[in-house]
Amino acid sequence: MAKTDAEKLKEELCYDAEHAMKSQMSDAEVDKADKFCDGYIDFLNEAKTEREIVIYFKNKAEALGFEEFDKTKKYKAGDKVYKVQREKAIILAVIGKKPITEGVKLAVAHIDSPRLDLKPNPLYESEEIALFKTHYYGGIKKYQWVTIPLSLHGVVVKPDGKKIVVNIGEDDNDPKFVITDLLPHLGKEQEKRTLADGIRGEELNVLVGSRPFKDDKDSNLVKLNILKLLNEKYGIVEKDFLSAELEIVPAFKACDIGLDRSMIGAYGHDDRVCAYPAAKAAFDIKDPAYTVVTVLTDKEEIGSYGNTGLTSAYLPYFLSDLAECFGAEGRDVMSKSECLSADVNSAFDPTFPEVMEKRNVSYINKGVVITKYTGARGKSGSSDASAEFMGKVRGYLEANNIVWQIGELGAVDAGGGGTVALDVASHDIDVVDLGVPVLSMHAPFEVVAKIDVYSAFRAFYEFFNLK
Ligand code: MN
Ligand code: MN
Repeated sequence: MAKTDAEKLKEELCYDAEHAMKSQMSDAEVDKADKFCDGYIDFLNEAKTEREIVIYFKNKAEALGFEEFDKTKKYKAGDKVYKVQREKAIILAVIGKKPITEGVKLAVAHIDSPRLDLKPNPLYESEEIALFKTHYYGGIKKYQWVTIPLSLHGVVVKPDGKKIVVNIGEDDNDPKFVITDLLPHLGKEQEKRTLADGIRGEELNVLVGSRPFKDDKDSNLVKLNILKLLNEKYGIVEKDFLSAELEIVPAFKACDIGLDRSMIGAYGHDDRVCAYPAAKAAFDIKDPAYTVVTVLTDKEEIGSYGNTGLTSAYLPYFLSDLAECFGAEGRDVMSKSECLSADVNSAFDPTFPEVMEKRNVSYINKGVVITKYTGARGKSGSSDASAEFMGKVRGYLEANNIVWQIGELGAVDAGGGGTVALDVASHDIDVVDLGVPVLSMHAPFEVVAKIDVYSAFRAFYEFFNLK
């Protein structure tokens, strides 16, 4: 049937983001997306914390010929370097053919996720049950963290500097941990609490043991037995907790979600779902025109503070050092540079439509989401990308048939949030947020669509591939 004039005019003038499989992605491309995500799922199961992710990508980088960055060296096009920032952040760079003074192309994602950290003095016993006290890290809904299997990751550093790596609960044969909740039969008073208060911070206590060390007449023997087990396995004593970073994260594995296997459920998609494609783009790119730089940073979930977060000078220091390798000034390079601040956004959830504004929210399966600004209330705490840079980003996405959409973080005044975009912008770099829409963001088990993960990879790759 012939199109009506209105249909023709609509096609010409109107814009609506569509499900990627409606007209933009072929079956063959969807297959590619699924295959790409097999690698992503392996990564999710192998590296859960910032320290583990740094080691994972450092090993991959070295296997691919990346060398540790040395600011006294001379580099040429095609050289590949990496720099580890205090074990918790990593930079991967491939030197481009153009002069460094034409700027670099950056993709910045974060590799810390919301979790429960052990308190400095965590272990105690009550009524012959041993528990760990925790202090939550990042924005969590505390009630979601009870009655799920948990694992323990991190490091313990002895006063002499010796570092012990801890990982319990990921291997199928490992024991797991759990935080208990009240039975509904006795939850009458608890149920009167607000949802935010349903489980309180000081109630996030992790169950770690229940058998005493022998049956001597002494107190705290269950705790003593746990210390004995930890000492046998790791050679640590109770005081060593004081100089440790131990993180409690969900123990379950990443898996396909849905009968059509279109989605992935996992802990910590935010922001590994951007970190993995951004690193993969740096690994896959061949002979880039511009120097390309992937930054996987820490501490985003608690405001990007600390010397492994992006408010630290480690990124401008690296870019300045790199500039100086070519006899250029860091500030001149940064002023010409462009960045995709890679972070997740909230996907439209049909069960909770009231906090979203349907025309300006992102949806799963509509591709990578561009977020012009984040922030709260009147865009407070946002970088707000310029129309010029938005135009440029739109241009290359469309030229490369990358499935993309626009998305605000929820309706106006419904809440809000931030990313590292403003920290990047503070170095006079053009930046916009680009990432993957997530369902149940910040929950122990988040959901993304495979098509969107692959679209994110293509967005980073083609950004790095700009001529
Ligand atoms: Mn994030
Ligand atoms: Mn987050």
